[in-house]
Amino acid sequence: MENIFGRTLPELTELAVSLGMPKFRGKQLAEWLYKKSVTDFAAMQNLPKDFRSKLAAGYVIDRAARVDRLDSADGRTSKFLLSFSDGAGVETVLMRQPYGNSICVSSQVGCSMGCRFCASTLHGMVRNLTAGEMLAQTFYINDLLQAEGQKVDTIVIMGSGEPLTNYDNVLGYIRLLHEDYCLGMSYRSITLSTSGIVPHIYRLAEEGLPINLSISLHAPEQELRSELMPINKKYPLADVIKAGREYGEKTHRRVTYEYILIDGVNDNLQQAKELASLLRGQLASVNLIPINPVAERNWNRPSLARIEFFEKYLADHHIAVTVRREMGNDIQAACGQLRNKHIK
Ligand code: SF4
Repeated sequence: MENIFGRTLPELTELAVSLGMPKFRGKQLAEWLYKKSVTDFAAMQNLPKDFRSKLAAGYVIDRAARVDRLDSADGRTSKFLLSFSDGAGVETVLMRQPYGNSICVSSQVGCSMGCRFCASTLHGMVRNLTAGEMLAQTFYINDLLQAEGQKVDTIVIMGSGEPLTNYDNVLGYIRLLHEDYCLGMSYRSITLSTSGIVPHIYRLAEEGLPINLSISLHAPEQELRSELMPINKKYPLADVIKAGREYGEKTHRRVTYEYILIDGVNDNLQQAKELASLLRGQLASVNLIPINPVAERNWNRPSLARIEFFEKYLADHHIAVTVRREMGNDIQAACGQLRNKHIK
């Protein structure tokens, strides 16, 4: 059985024609899948019965099933462990922000990047997700929100996985989100987060999509960054910054650099100076993320005074900077932890 969910309108039209239907049946199929979010061919009432039977005989609508759910005490963050037909599980997070509903989508099952602060990489990478599986995460949460008269407003592709090593599927997903026959989302409401896969940052800049790019930096020095993020040995810090700079120049979009603040590791004055100097003159901002403590590594969150000092140093040196508000600490919001609990 082949999965039909995540196919584009031209692909659905081609499928309809291959099953002996006129072209407009493809459009109707897309409406049932993406506008009405129907998960059963039998419910697609305006399609001829024999077309529905042929679809049911050869195809499935592979949507995500919920395995687990955790809600934060304040009710603003919900983390879902969703699974697909082969049993692979991924985490998807809903964050109810003051500016709307934001979701964090996974792009791979597990991750091979090996970032030292991340639970998603502990069991390696299992496989890439298809565009349909990323869309299924989105629809799972959008359906929940629609029952409350709401919808998904912004998307960050920042869950488990390195999206730029699953380039074609991720780009297919982003384009689908934007299509009018699907969710019709603005590209500007979509953010792709990468650990710094340099050649694909250049490739992305050529796509002409006004999405937001976020780059995980986490250290302003080559050696420390390699320690925290092994991918830095392949794509060194200087090359990542150069790619980010050229991405901003080419797309006129501000690049966000994510910087996890770890007490005594990457939060001193010298490091603030180096970070400001790296980004000087670049169309960029820094998002400081005080770490969720990692007991195994003895990594702790800096004091509030130290966080504010780091933030102020950057701001005083003309670097746009924000500090990420804590969301969902009480539900293990760090990516990968819920899935790992179930693997255990
Ligand atoms: S932080 Fe992102 S890129 Fe790094 S290991 Fe975790 S999921 Fe992979």
